[in-house]
Amino acid sequence: MVKKHISLIAIDGPAASGKSTVGRLLAEKLHFLYLDTGCMYRAVTWAALQHKIDLGDETAVTHLARDIQIEIFPENGEADGRHYTVHVDGQDITWALRTPAVDANVSQVSSYLGVRQEMVKRQRAFGERGAVVMVGRDIGTVVMPDAPLKLYITASAEERARRRTRDRSDQGHTADYDRILADVLRRDDIDSNREHSPLRPAADAILIDSTEQPPTMIVNAILDMIQEPVNGNR
Ligand code: C5P
Repeated sequence: MVKKHISLIAIDGPAASGKSTVGRLLAEKLHFLYLDTGCMYRAVTWAALQHKIDLGDETAVTHLARDIQIEIFPENGEADGRHYTVHVDGQDITWALRTPAVDANVSQVSSYLGVRQEMVKRQRAFGERGAVVMVGRDIGTVVMPDAPLKLYITASAEERARRRTRDRSDQGHTADYDRILADVLRRDDIDSNREHSPLRPAADAILIDSTEQPPTMIVNAILDMIQEPVNGNR
């Protein structure tokens, strides 16, 4: 049984910190919905590249963010390793969101205030349904500041780059550790130092270092924290 007041779990942290895996497993265990907000910023970036919009043109990118329809569906038995499906204006772009071109440009797109305001509006509408695990960079600080449970998950940059490298080669892509490490560090830098909603833990977030802890161990610790004891045994 879940303690009644935990209706929403906010998870933030840098790229490849393990936050998405932890968030997904928690959502599964608790029968909550799962929303990876990073895929929304990636969707805007993908659409801007697709429409050949100058990514330095904040006004044009912001208009695009307001215009596009982004739909996120739960995984539905697709056999290609996806955890959810993302459509932009009806087109399945789930895997296109993970390309190096999107990785390279997403932090610039997500630094724009108008883009953030539009995405935050959509994320809050999702969060208001309750029973949601929401993962991103600013969930505990900006999107859902009243969330009853906030986690901030980090890991060393080298470990995060190793995980990304492994993920990309598991998906059949060539993956160069040094290039991935440089990208992770560059994104951390932009995400942490941007003017609007920089990446940082909420004052009341629980800090978790996942460098040497597998996701299942983190998930079990969190479940212990929030679940009522079963027959007084916990
Ligand atoms: O989580 P993921 O690595 O897919 O996020 C991609 C990018 O989207 C991040 O590097 C960050 O620039 C942006 N982002 C954000 N706010 C969020 C989620 C992601 O700015 N809540």
